[in-house]
Amino acid sequence: MLYELATGTATSWEVSPRYEDLLAGTQVEFVRAEVCGLDEAERVVTLRSGTAERQLPYDQCVLAFGLQPRTDAVPGVSEHALTFHSAEDALELKKQLALAQHACRGTGTPLRIGIIGGGYVGVELAANLASALSAAHANGAPAPSVGRPGSCPPSSTHPPQITLVHRSEQLLPGAQPFSRDEAQRRLQSAGVELRLGTRVVNVTPEAISLVPTTAPDGAPVTELPVDLTVWSAGMCPSSVVPGLPLPLDARGRILADATLRVRGHPRLFALGDAAAVVDARRVEAPPTAQAAMQQADYVAWNVRAVVRGEALLPFRYENLGEMLSLGDQSATIAALAQAVRLNGPVAYAVRRAVYAARMPTSTQAAKVGLSWAVDAAFGAMRKAAQLPDKRK
Ligand SMILES: Cc1cc2nc3c(=O)[nH]c(=O)nc-3n(C[C@H](O)[C@H](O)[C@H](O)COP(=O)(O)OP(=O)(O)OC[C@H]3O[C@@H](n4cnc5c(N)ncnc54)[C@H](O)[C@@H]3O)c2cc1C
Repeated sequence: MLYELATGTATSWEVSPRYEDLLAGTQVEFVRAEVCGLDEAERVVTLRSGTAERQLPYDQCVLAFGLQPRTDAVPGVSEHALTFHSAEDALELKKQLALAQHACRGTGTPLRIGIIGGGYVGVELAANLASALSAAHANGAPAPSVGRPGSCPPSSTHPPQITLVHRSEQLLPGAQPFSRDEAQRRLQSAGVELRLGTRVVNVTPEAISLVPTTAPDGAPVTELPVDLTVWSAGMCPSSVVPGLPLPLDARGRILADATLRVRGHPRLFALGDAAAVVDARRVEAPPTAQAAMQQADYVAWNVRAVVRGEALLPFRYENLGEMLSLGDQSATIAALAQAVRLNGPVAYAVRRAVYAARMPTSTQAAKVGLSWAVDAAFGAMRKAAQLPDKRK
């Protein structure tokens, strides 16, 4: 739902509720701090908060560090590109869009956005930005969710230009064919320019330097002029992971066995994107929330099993399918080996319902579900009355 947060079609409390609120009334203590060390002999985790450090003792410890954008692979990315991985990133993008659109206003040039990486994040972001910015342009709003429609002149006489750069010839390499075809169709109809088979070699504040992926070193470079660049082309495990005394795979992920226990470390479990797990059926878990949430159930069960001296349960990944957000009240869903295939507004509504249902607590699920149901009802009424969307 980060795309919706960036484009103003969902709010922070719906998409990224505070841990303190989610855990209120439970016996879980939330500590806001950075893990900077782990000592298995002493059974303590070292936490840092500002300049203060403290030790947190444990009997069993679960490691779920996740990934972070890898921005050092191409010169200029860390200095001149935005990343899109967290709620903070989404809000920063929203702010930078408003500023860039403001800067373009009256210049006669369109707002130009370059998105690097044609995986799920790049594709969904491109589709959502295209629909939100086109709607804002048509309504004369300065940027998604900033100001009221009609209160400002159009940002530019030209609609925004979004270019998606991807190194292979096919977008969404790991996606199901139905999702890929729908996404590609949607991007094309939204006017997103695709630069496939193209490698980024440098990023500056004004341009992205491109070469064909197959070109040899030193090949002529094409400059893509941009006002804003978003990097969604590479991730690596959280920066703390390499420094911990843990077994890692070639991609720097923590090696865990099928019961999600860290190999050779009976008091540690690892799950989610930063864990390399092959399940009981020899299936490798993908880096998705779907897999991480399934693993969380197994880890909770297995921690209890350790405490009770019972046998651990091996993880079995169930691929429930995939959902893509494609902007403009549109989505795509492919599930049950593509037996279920939905797109358009129906998929959009189902996707939101699934997200609401999967919120971490029933209270949050009910609040978010109600909020989105009210939005949908008002959206339908607005459409019937042909009024602009005031949330945008
Ligand atoms: C834009 C976007 C859209 C996505 N959409 C989908 C989707 O539709 N469906 C899907 O299945 N998956 C989706 N994913 C992937 C999904 O978000 C991840 O697979 C999932 O969040 C992984 O969960 P995790 O717990 O391993 O890591 P995370 O959710 O990344 O959580 C890790 C947490 O650990 C914290 N952390 C890291 N290092 C430290 C440290 N040293 N000390 C303390 N805390 C630390 C991080 O700040 C973070 O809060 C999406 C990802 C992105 C970026």
